[in-house]
Amino acid sequence: MNYPQRLHEAVIGRITFPLTNYLFNRKNILSDFHALQKSEHLSIELLRELQLARLRETITSADKYVPYYTRVFKEIGLRPGDIKQIEDINRIPPLSREDVINHHKDMVDVRMQSSVPFADNSPKEPGAPLPFAPFRRHRLIKNTSSGSTGAPTVFYEDGSRTAMNWVHELRLKNWFGVRPGAKEARMTRLSVDYMPKSSVVQLRWMLWHQLILPGVNLDDEHYSVCLKNILKFKPEILWGFTSALAGLAEYVNRSGGLPDGYRPKVVVGWAAPVYDHEEKLMKEAFQCSVTNIYGAREVGHIAAKCPRGSFHINQENMIVEAVSLSAEGVEQTGQEILVTTIDPSPMPFIRYRMGDVGEIVDSDCSCGRTLQVLSNLLGRTGEIFQTKEGRMISPNFWCRTFMSGKVSGAIKRFQIIYTRTRDLRILVERDSGYNEDTERYIHETIARNFSPETELELEYVAKIHPEVSGKYQMVVNEARNEA
Ligand SMILES: [Zn+2]
Repeated sequence: MNYPQRLHEAVIGRITFPLTNYLFNRKNILSDFHALQKSEHLSIELLRELQLARLRETITSADKYVPYYTRVFKEIGLRPGDIKQIEDINRIPPLSREDVINHHKDMVDVRMQSSVPFADNSPKEPGAPLPFAPFRRHRLIKNTSSGSTGAPTVFYEDGSRTAMNWVHELRLKNWFGVRPGAKEARMTRLSVDYMPKSSVVQLRWMLWHQLILPGVNLDDEHYSVCLKNILKFKPEILWGFTSALAGLAEYVNRSGGLPDGYRPKVVVGWAAPVYDHEEKLMKEAFQCSVTNIYGAREVGHIAAKCPRGSFHINQENMIVEAVSLSAEGVEQTGQEILVTTIDPSPMPFIRYRMGDVGEIVDSDCSCGRTLQVLSNLLGRTGEIFQTKEGRMISPNFWCRTFMSGKVSGAIKRFQIIYTRTRDLRILVERDSGYNEDTERYIHETIARNFSPETELELEYVAKIHPEVSGKYQMVVNEARNEA
């Protein structure tokens, strides 16, 4: 990169990006980023001390100012002073999505309650930033998470959560040698028809060095336009919905790969796991590192994959637990992830049930970072299946099975349906290479991994239809959907 380009990047990263974000009340982005670069190497003990101090502040403030928690703590007889170690939060009952849906207004700090009606009545779409927020009386923004099932979760934020997301993204990019202000293409949650006004897109390009691209409901024509724009802009980072990036990668591979002279530095998949076959696809198409952010809109980015492949938790800003929770009517479904936000926030989340299954271990990552590691992240509880003998099957199992070299060219698309009787129905869209060997392979794989009582129905279909969002659902859990 030449000198003027480097200077341009530095101006964006050091001045215009943090400054414009400040006007949305997203403060301290650079200073927090620099602090995280140090804390990610602290000793395990010091990291825990830092967490405990922030947790105690969170609990004290929630007890005093958040009506929902005042009530919950009273019911269980917890006083803020009782939190002597991190594990003491075990006493607080986990917070479910339903709790948030039912009590979201009660979960807002009383000092900001008067802003809730303003946020509710805002004509802007949920999550849209509030210009000049630091100078306003009412700074709350209403946001929603697109609940994968049922009603969306409504929550409120004042810019601080988004600021922390930017900070965590800066940290992640830094892990891959990308500086603040580097060019970035973002395939967002918007479809082509709902792209923001061109002025917004222009400003993000000028002030943040971001190329905004659609990320849902894309077809080949859209991918071709996206790719053209990417090749013109030459971003170091490709960021987006995992499904959009995988789709783009597939398109790039089909159309002969990237031209010489352009390679991004890192691809960041967001909002869904990057499964093995997707990672392979992206690496082949973009010839660079691929990483993944794990998180949720309500609580922000929780963990991200370092260059050595560990999912490091953003431990300075949240406490992540993996606990055994048994869902009603189902036996133990493994370790469920709970998240507690420990930064000052108008709406704290304490022990929020993510609905994902995984484990948490201390770091022994060769990258040298001491941040805890989320391992065996199997995905959504609803997508994980427990066989009749209690084995856990993650969606990745199916990816590996159906993307294996043994069935290459034989299967166009597949869908796994876990039935109410916990048996299997597999829909297959056949490709030209499909033959008896393929069918035998499927039967043998199932026989090896499932108990003999599991019934398998293999069904050949002309087409597997996508959901309304345009995404293909690989796993359908009928038992769970009914619950
Ligand atoms: Zn690492």
